[in-house]
Amino acid sequence: MVARVAKQGVRDSKVLAAMEAVPRHMFVESGLASQAYIDASLPIGHHQTISQPYIVARMIEILRANTNGGELNRVLEIGTGCGYQAAVLSLVAKEVYSIERIKPLHELAKTNLRPLRIANIRLHYGDGMLGLPQVAPFDGIILAAAGLQVPQALLDQMNIGGRLVAPVGERHQVLQLIERVSKFEWTNTTLEECHFVPLRPGTV
Ligand code: SAH
Repeated sequence: MVARVAKQGVRDSKVLAAMEAVPRHMFVESGLASQAYIDASLPIGHHQTISQPYIVARMIEILRANTNGGELNRVLEIGTGCGYQAAVLSLVAKEVYSIERIKPLHELAKTNLRPLRIANIRLHYGDGMLGLPQVAPFDGIILAAAGLQVPQALLDQMNIGGRLVAPVGERHQVLQLIERVSKFEWTNTTLEECHFVPLRPGTV
């Protein structure tokens, strides 16, 4: 799986090593375990999916691109799902916060992550569109679900110099990189096309 991700263009060796280290089959139901290492998104219930390995690696690579190979400090993920991307992030960042709006998936992520004994992940149940103002600012924010725009609350919770990577759009989606350059200034770069489940408000 990791060789394929590298072949698709992910170069960051720290990200590739993190992908190598996290057992993806532990994040899918046992009936799908044989498909865990193909480069595809897979169902995790509640109409949601575990993201495709390539896009998980790519988003983390983009997040890390201005750290000069160093470690990210505090990162936030919106859309924990089954917890896979949070596990990968935990190997490249000091502190990982992840929010999920669907209660049974929040519980599933807890169950999936428990045996891996990862000390630096904090899972939150709530509406990720609001971010986590009580722990902000973040050096990096990743959205694992696509909205029509990136919520202002998340932009406000970025560190100056921090990066946010998010899929944006409805049927046609693109990956966007937002960098906060000053208190009131953000730059926006459109990267490749992608396909994610929708970002939705509120909790269920
Ligand atoms: N990060 C996961 C991907 C899960 S799919 C992985 O490692 O594969 C995206 C998730 O985003 C879904 O579980 C969905 O319920 C969640 N989501 C959508 N809108 C959200 C919101 N406003 N707040 C938190 N989670 C949200």
